[in-house]
This record gives sequence, structure tokens and C-alpha cells, in this order.
Amino acid sequence: MTANKFSDIKLAAPIQEALSKIGYETPTPIQQQTIPLVLQGHDVLGIAQTGTGKTAAFCLPMIHSLAKNKIKRESRCPRALILTPTRELAIQIHENLKTYGQNMGQNYSVIFGGVGQGKQVKEMKGGVDVLVATPGRLLDLIDQGYIKLNRVEVFVLDEADRMLDMGFMRDIKKILPMLPQKRHNLFFSATMPTEIEKLANTILENPKTVEVTPPATTVKRIDQSVLFVEKKDKINLLVHLLKDKKQQKTLVFVEMKHVANRVTEKLEANGIRAVAIHGNKSQNARQQAIKDFTDDKVRVMVATDIASRGIDISGITHVINFELSNIAESYVHRIGRTARAGADGTAISLVTADEKSYFVNVEKTTSQKIPVDTDHPYHSQEAQDAAVMKVGKAKKKLETQRRQEGRKPFRKNDKSKSGSKKKFKRSDNKKSFSSKKSEPGKSAKSFKKSSKKTSPGKSKNSRVFK
Ligand code: AMP
Repeated sequence: MTANKFSDIKLAAPIQEALSKIGYETPTPIQQQTIPLVLQGHDVLGIAQTGTGKTAAFCLPMIHSLAKNKIKRESRCPRALILTPTRELAIQIHENLKTYGQNMGQNYSVIFGGVGQGKQVKEMKGGVDVLVATPGRLLDLIDQGYIKLNRVEVFVLDEADRMLDMGFMRDIKKILPMLPQKRHNLFFSATMPTEIEKLANTILENPKTVEVTPPATTVKRIDQSVLFVEKKDKINLLVHLLKDKKQQKTLVFVEMKHVANRVTEKLEANGIRAVAIHGNKSQNARQQAIKDFTDDKVRVMVATDIASRGIDISGITHVINFELSNIAESYVHRIGRTARAGADGTAISLVTADEKSYFVNVEKTTSQKIPVDTDHPYHSQEAQDAAVMKVGKAKKKLETQRRQEGRKPFRKNDKSKSGSKKKFKRSDNKKSFSSKKSEPGKSAKSFKKSSKKTSPGKSKNSRVFK
């Protein structure tokens, strides 16, 4: 039987309290399958990628079991070890642990390279319940005698296939013999190449395998289209689209935090209620934004991938990619936010000449041709016909551009971004302008508000939803 609510899973009351405080009600599929198995003491082989909720799938039962086995923590000896390939992931898992275990009275630490070791060493001396580590720094501190792994009760290997890609296999093989023979093992990987399968076999004992279906399967049910547009017209095209009230609940994706702020301001200035959610907002601000969007107080939420990852809001009618990501899989994750539970869903991507390579990559990855919609006043034939460059090259170019824009005060560009003069210049495009063409006068002004309005209180917890 699968649990539809966290309250159906036998996790300790302090964990349940923390979950309801952060608004987790329904376990994700990987959580539904994994948590009960771990609570029963099984080793688990989880085939799942980031974004599926796998961190909670291993953290929740782990902190539950550690609390149940009342063993005192000892200096330098973590009771549980989570090995993960990157510093970002390590920090993210640590933040999640602190959130989930906020009522547990346990100590969670994180260590990774590239920073001084002083703080990390000090924390280890005090004894920790769960240590999140990247392999290199872990071995380094073990070599110096600051960490011992002989009392590890639970061992988690996260993102095993990425470890392999990043050349950590030797480090892992060095670490494994330092762990006690008898321990509880959880092993997660997005893919299972032969070498990873072999590694899993050496680590796990009679494991139960859980696998979550890649979200790509949802793509087929969504009505997708691409609108080619010049960069300067993008925001006006978005406003134009959103003026159509059929777009009842729309999630707009952008790549950069500053773009999220600006787009939101522009929409508001055009009478479209919108909120932004991104990594610079405090956890409270993010939760409020999500609540307003969920409760239909605002029609549009403008989000970055990271901030919105894993957030499950029902009834989203439209997803608009205001900016495409260079990672084609993100497209699948993004558009999968609509058409939930058999409902209809529409996904629209606004693509400039510079983003053409990303777009072609999306079509390749999802093995589909996405229909081009030219029936809008900002169609750019130039963008549609743009040459495709290597994704790596396109990424470099776009990232530089986007970063530079983030540093520029937007005020300076107001006129060129949305002034009517430029719009008319485009009339040599094949598409003629319709009377709906612009939202006269409003656009330029609305961008004048500076982007500093956002990011109230960058709280430590703001990473929680990553
Ligand atoms: P992960 O795959 O572990 O990186 O999780 C992706 C995102 O989903 C994170 O932002 C988590 O905070 C969020 N998340 C995980 N489980 C749930 C859940 N059951 N309900 C809502 N959000 C969740």
C-alpha cells in the first residue's frame, strides 16, 4: 500500500511537525516507496534524479532511525554519512536535513573542499549525528585524523552516476573499507551504467530497488508551441499572451533571479497579478508567493528552476518558458507542472535567435517537433531562421549576456526594451502587426522600478526549497 499523506507514514511526531510546517503534505513517488522500506531496515537502491524528492526520501527515515537507536554521538565519529559529489548538493542536503530535523535535537554537519577546514574540524570534534560530505574533503580530514567512520550506522551514496562521471570512484573505493561491516545502506543514482551496478552490488545487502519514472512521459499530454521573438519584444509578447484570460494559472520560467523580478514588475504594471520566486527570496517570502499562487490570489508565478523545483501546485493551466534553459531536461520538468492529473495543459516557449540551439536540443531530447506559432504580433522570422550553434557555445554566449544584464540597472534600457519605436521597425517581418500589438505606454514605465525591491531578508533557510 502506498502512503498518500505523510501522516500515513510512521515517522516520528517531531518530523511530521517539521513537514507540516514547511508545507509538505503528500510524499513524492520516490518518498512513498523508499521511506517505508528504510524504516523496515532494508537497504535501498533508488533510481531517481534530483527534483524527485529523493533527499527527503533518505533523510527522513534516516533521522527517524537515528533518534530511535539512542546511541550517543562521539567526537569525530558521525553516526550517518551522506556522500554526495558536489559542494552545492552537499549544502542543499545539509539545509534540507536542518529543516526536516529541526525538532530532533540532532547535529548535522557538512564538509566540502575549496574552503578552510577550521569550522568543519571544530564541528566534528563536537560529534555529529549526520555528516554530509564530498569525497575529497572527507578523505582529507580522515587522513588528518579529524574524522573516523567506524561508527557509521547509516551510509548514503547520493548521485552515484555523477560520482563516476566526476572521477570519484577511486575515492569511494578508499572510503568504503573504513565503514563498519554492519550498516544500513542507501544508494541513489539517476542512471545505472554497469560500473554503478557493480558498485551498488558491493555496497548493498539484499537491497530493495525503487525507481521513479522519468517525467518525460508527461510531455505527450501537453499542448506545446514555440513562439519566435526578438529579445527586446519578449516581455511585450508575454504581456500580450497573459492578457488572454484563458491563461488562468500560469507558471513563467526564467533563468536568472533579476529577470524574475523584472518580469513580475512588468506584469504587475500591466495589471496582471504576479509573484516572483527565486533563490534570493527568504523562505517565508517564497512560501507566501506559493500560497498566493496556489490560492489563486495571483494568476502568474515567475520562477527560476532552482527555486521552483519540487513544488507541486495543482491546476496550472499554462507554463511559459520566458527563457529556455541550456539543460534540455529542464524543459521536461518545467512543462510537467501543467497537465497534472489528466487535466489539459499548455506549454509555450518564447525563443530568441540566441536560444535557438537550446530549443533544437529540447526537440532532440524529447524526440518531438514542437509546432511553431506565428500567430502573434511579435513573430521574428530571424529568430526562427537563426543558425544553430553548439549548445556549449550558445550557453557561454547567453550566460554572459544574462549576467551582464543582471548587473546593468534596468532603468537605462527602458526605452529600447519596450519603446514603441522599435516595435514598428519590426514590421518588415512576414507577420503583420495586429492592432493588439502593444500595451501602449505602460511597458517602458513599468520597468523603471528598480530590481532592488525583491529579496527581503536573505535568510539561511532560503535554500530549503532548492
Ligand atoms: P530533491 O529531489 O530532493 O532535490 O527535491 C526537490 C525539491 O522538492 C526540493 O525543493 C524539496 O524541498 C521539494 N520536496 C521534496 N519532497 C517534497 C514533498 N513531499 N512535498 C513538497 N515538496 C517537496
